[in-house]
Amino acid sequence: AALTPARTRVAPSPTGDPHVGTAYMALFDLAWARKTGGRFVLRIEDTDQARYVEGSEQQIYDTLGWLGLSADEGPDVGGPYAPYRQSERLDTYKPYVDQLVEAGHAYYCWCSTERLAEMRELQQKAKLPTGYDRLCHGKTREERAALPGFTDKPVVRMLVPEDVETRFEDVIRGWVNAPRPDDQVILKADGFPTYHLAVVVDDHLMGITTVVRGEEWISSTPKHVLLYRWLGWDVPQFAHMPLLRNPDKSKISKRKNPAARLTWFREEGYLPEALLNFLQLVGYPPVADGQEVSSFEEFVERFDWTKVNTVGPIFDMDKLNWLNGH
Ligand code: GLU
Repeated sequence: AALTPARTRVAPSPTGDPHVGTAYMALFDLAWARKTGGRFVLRIEDTDQARYVEGSEQQIYDTLGWLGLSADEGPDVGGPYAPYRQSERLDTYKPYVDQLVEAGHAYYCWCSTERLAEMRELQQKAKLPTGYDRLCHGKTREERAALPGFTDKPVVRMLVPEDVETRFEDVIRGWVNAPRPDDQVILKADGFPTYHLAVVVDDHLMGITTVVRGEEWISSTPKHVLLYRWLGWDVPQFAHMPLLRNPDKSKISKRKNPAARLTWFREEGYLPEALLNFLQLVGYPPVADGQEVSSFEEFVERFDWTKVNTVGPIFDMDKLNWLNGH
């Protein structure tokens, strides 16, 4: 049967030298888009102003381009859903916040950071589950202002119901059970949306059918599913990729491992085809036993979400070096 054209996306935050995981996600995004005759989108998630690093965005385009993983739509190439940079979409998010507040799914919270820290400390001491205690829920600004720990710069939080569904279906993993979320902030005091709101609004508006991202986001997915439901939108497919790991099973981090930086491979003179082939092998079974060299086209041909490695893919530099000299 013909496959429905997918729209996939990679959504890096420009917080420094791009992580090798960005290319790893982009490879799987592009493979699925090509396999189904769909489109691969690049979105820049720059709602955390404090972590923005100048030049990081350009490095993302350059390294993905070097690997042949350029997106079909994105800030650098445009597309029908522009702008693709979240800081340029602030007006898009606010009406959804208002809609959620009006429907009673979200509420203003005027608690100061000091009060929140105190609350957390007390919860921890009492060995209670940590999470927002809803002091502000159901109160007007005036009512809340009369109590201690008030700030005039409110945030907006989701009102997570007691019976929230924490299970969701993943195309790689099947049914996944995530922890119960607390009342997450969706709009920050500076008027910027948080990741949780922006990712749902943008994935919906940009027609994303398959959300491919690292497994560290599994605990966020029930929050996102709630937002989709409340806004009356269809939930996309989720594909949570296993994290890349060092041979000692630790996460590949930019602090510990130079190979976590995408620009490093280029500086070291690795061939883009070798790195691309390596990223395939790390996340996906080889063509056949002993046949580890495979082109992107072959990868697309045999691509199937259910075959993605779920047990800690190991970043084996010996294999990369072998592929590079091959
Ligand atoms: N901006 C997030 C990141 O940097 C994207 C997570 C997602 O793909 O939903 O990892």
